[in-house]
Amino acid sequence: MQKRHVGKTGIEVSIIGLGTVKLGRQQGVHYPDAFELPSDKELNQLLACAFELEINLLDTAPAYGTSEERLGKALRGKRQEWIISTKAGEEFVNGVSRFDFSPLTIKQSVERSLKRLQTDYLDILLIHSNGNEDSIVMEDVVFETLERLRESGKLRAYGMSTKTVAGGLQTIDRADVAMVTLNPNHTAEREVIAYAHQKQKGIFIKKAFASGHLPAADSLRFVFTEPGVTSVIVGTINPAHLKQNVAVALSHDKL
Ligand code: NAP
Repeated sequence: MQKRHVGKTGIEVSIIGLGTVKLGRQQGVHYPDAFELPSDKELNQLLACAFELEINLLDTAPAYGTSEERLGKALRGKRQEWIISTKAGEEFVNGVSRFDFSPLTIKQSVERSLKRLQTDYLDILLIHSNGNEDSIVMEDVVFETLERLRESGKLRAYGMSTKTVAGGLQTIDRADVAMVTLNPNHTAEREVIAYAHQKQKGIFIKKAFASGHLPAADSLRFVFTEPGVTSVIVGTINPAHLKQNVAVALSHDKL
């Protein structure tokens, strides 16, 4: 599968990444159907399938329940084969999200992610925004904290999973990558993607299928026609769906 650079970081990722909410969290999600968390065996099969399809990017977060911990266990001895993107700033405990973007909390969250993922570096760290991106960027010295963490070798690159155009634009100015929503029903953040394209920064797409509420193949084709998209992070625990999504990506490659 085609790989693209994440901005100027030197990190290369497959144009489809695997989103891992459904590996670790069932509560407070907005998928159309209820689901069981995959067993360890199913999780290993899903990762083996992703690897075979030449997907190298995994997106996780402390707020995705047991996702980081399960990935850490499953990737033992195979860490170098993957680009891991995780987050900081949101905690999801007993069904409730809490946000804290203070430097100390972010540093502690990174240390915990390193332990859970059983690694000594994170490829990409995204701030897990609550939507108040002006205050996150302006008041909480967030990007300075992430730059110090990069200098210490704990991160290779950083950015923010944003919810607003203003937050996305600021992220592109000050970081390596923004994760934004794009699908046929949500085009409001296109300006951020165009800006990233112009500035040669990375763009990860979340919710390309509106969390499963839109037809997958059509939505994926729609997203891939947008200039400036680095990788589409598709959320699935079904290897057959992953294969279908990759088939669409491959047909796009040939266009
Ligand atoms: P999504 O990728 O738009 O949709 C996932 C849903 O689509 C799943 O229920 C999946 O069901 C279904 N699906 C996937 N491929 C399919 C196919 N070929 N045919 C039919 N159904 C298909 O939504 P998402 O999981 O909300 O977002 C993707 C990723 O982005 C997340 O996993 C996460 O890593 C990231 N994300 C980040 C944030 C944030 O930072 N704030 C927020 C949301 C998401 P099956 O499992 O049955 O395939």
